[in-house]
Amino acid sequence: MTHQGTSGPSSGAGAGGRARAAAARARRKAAAGMKRLQSPGSMRRFAQQKRHAGRRIGFVPTMGALHEGHLALIRKARGQNDVVVVSIFVNPLQFGQGEDYERYPRDLARDMDLAREGGVDAVFVPEIADLYPEGYATRVTVGPLGERLCGATRPGHFDGVCTVVMKLLGIVQPHRLYLGEKDAQQLIILERMVADLDVDVRIVACTTVRDKDGLAVSSRNRYLTPEQRHQAPRLYQALRLAQREILIGHERDPERMAARMRDHIAAGPDFRIDYIELVDPETLRPRPVLTGRTLIALAAWLGETRLIDNIMVNVPGGRVAEGLGLTGRKR
Ligand code: AMP
Repeated sequence: MTHQGTSGPSSGAGAGGRARAAAARARRKAAAGMKRLQSPGSMRRFAQQKRHAGRRIGFVPTMGALHEGHLALIRKARGQNDVVVVSIFVNPLQFGQGEDYERYPRDLARDMDLAREGGVDAVFVPEIADLYPEGYATRVTVGPLGERLCGATRPGHFDGVCTVVMKLLGIVQPHRLYLGEKDAQQLIILERMVADLDVDVRIVACTTVRDKDGLAVSSRNRYLTPEQRHQAPRLYQALRLAQREILIGHERDPERMAARMRDHIAAGPDFRIDYIELVDPETLRPRPVLTGRTLIALAAWLGETRLIDNIMVNVPGGRVAEGLGLTGRKR
């Protein structure tokens, strides 16, 4: 007979229990440098302490299921600030009826590990009732910018995004806000919002991270079947095709261009295109003739999964903007 399980107050747990407890202790120790905060009050206190100590705070809002795109934002924030805060919150306000709110991927344990490895100082993980308690009533209204592109088929989506980001900015009070160009319309709308509502934050845009074959990395890519994943790079191929046709082929007709892109994407049999638009990046209105900085944005369903992507083209001049070049306003 061994003496396993007889050496301490939790002796009933046995060797397996002790090993689990040791692993948990090790995890707690590793996490000691990174805070997990749930209530807006605790998050605000953490941020205010840092601010009062003269620290610069970089903030990366996410819906979790962290991937290389998020990690690129975190790395950039890490490089430019003293303190990095990441929020993880699947915001019900920005999902419409029948959208994927329920099945949106959630993996907090893995997210915490990735955040820790990325050198994040605090992860803000509120519950729904923490942000939208009983009696909550106020929403940010975006207006026309929120009705174009994705907004045409996702009414209220950008109101939901702006509302939660406005709340998060009020809680975290960051100096810089890190957003991905992958969601170009969101980036443009949030730029508008912080300017219009006099929010004292600088937005830093981050280039879209892509898989080797060009597919923009997204939490939703994991919904794709192997066959759909095989077809998915057609979206970015169509954007690159447009870029070439405009810059080298001197195409100036947006409708003809969109039709070419549509043909390329539709050669993937599982695609259903939501929109392909060539727009002015300030107003998101379609350009009647291709000229100046033009955002080429698209959304398509691949089976049950809706994917978006975009590219910015400077017409004419033969030069492609480094990134979307949408931000940089100094405040
Ligand atoms: P999400 O968790 O999808 O709400 O995204 C959180 C942030 O990460 C947003 O600012 C996104 O634009 C950004 N993001 C998502 N995917 C990518 C990507 N592939 N490259 C760069 N940024 C991304």
